[in-house]
Amino acid sequence: MRPDNASYYRGRFAPSPSGLLHFGSLIAALASYLDAKHNNGQWLLRIEDIDPPREQSGASSEILKTLESYGLHWDEDVLYQSQQSAIYHEVLAELAEQKLSYYCRCTRAQIKAQGGIYQGQCKNLAQPVNNSAIRINNTVGISQYNDLIQTQVTCDTKLAQEDFIVVRKDGLFAYQLAVVVDDIYQNISHVIRGCDLLEPTARQLSFYQILQHNAPKFGHFPLAVSKPGFKLSKQNSAPAIDKNNPLPSLFSALVFLGQHPPNGLQTASVDELLTWAITHWSIAQVPKSQEIILQV
Ligand code: GLU
Repeated sequence: MRPDNASYYRGRFAPSPSGLLHFGSLIAALASYLDAKHNNGQWLLRIEDIDPPREQSGASSEILKTLESYGLHWDEDVLYQSQQSAIYHEVLAELAEQKLSYYCRCTRAQIKAQGGIYQGQCKNLAQPVNNSAIRINNTVGISQYNDLIQTQVTCDTKLAQEDFIVVRKDGLFAYQLAVVVDDIYQNISHVIRGCDLLEPTARQLSFYQILQHNAPKFGHFPLAVSKPGFKLSKQNSAPAIDKNNPLPSLFSALVFLGQHPPNGLQTASVDELLTWAITHWSIAQVPKSQEIILQV
């Protein structure tokens, strides 16, 4: 069990190696790093490589090199989710034993036809079937929580109550399973990440409760978007940040996060800028909006 000690802080950055780091991912790395370091905490790096079809070869090692050139040095060894299968299977076995999960053979088209939310039809399937997903029996359905940045978050109740997928039909572990199991495994106390994950957080909070485990504290900063609703992402080919010229992007990321670095630091070294940023980091200054349009 995680110690409930106010001074205990373990944060993390958890990129998927589906592409190189872009400005949006730099914000995620920087916000989680600064909040951890400002609170004398540890900052861990986890590579979320559980979806091989979406991965880009070489991206993992490139992400590590980029973080290093940005002065964002992680504590402890990097954790690769691809090495965590045994532990995911253990948790799945426990859930099955306690009848907290079940097989589901609904197709995406069937779910879409009933309004996009799965209605629990497979709950009583007697036998495992080939080519089926595994869903969690979501007995909790948390739809509201306190956020370190957004304050009170309220999610769609139906979505929050859905029995969500923990193993996909193609047999791959689902994000919700891996992220919660690993945040517990790594003893993470604080998760600072973008507002695209506000809804998944509600599900994750339910999952912690189902697993009877304390949840970390969550804080969601605004997403960087190119226009309303269009987040910068690897999928929409946001440009990679420049490994050889970290200062301008770091400076802009700090400004994006509502911090006020003195102009003089634009020509400082990466270490000087980060030292200033760790000392002066104020999570209260991070904007509470869910997205911010980048002025290009
Ligand atoms: N791997 C996820 C991503 O790259 C982040 C998950 C998380 O921070 O929980 O979007």
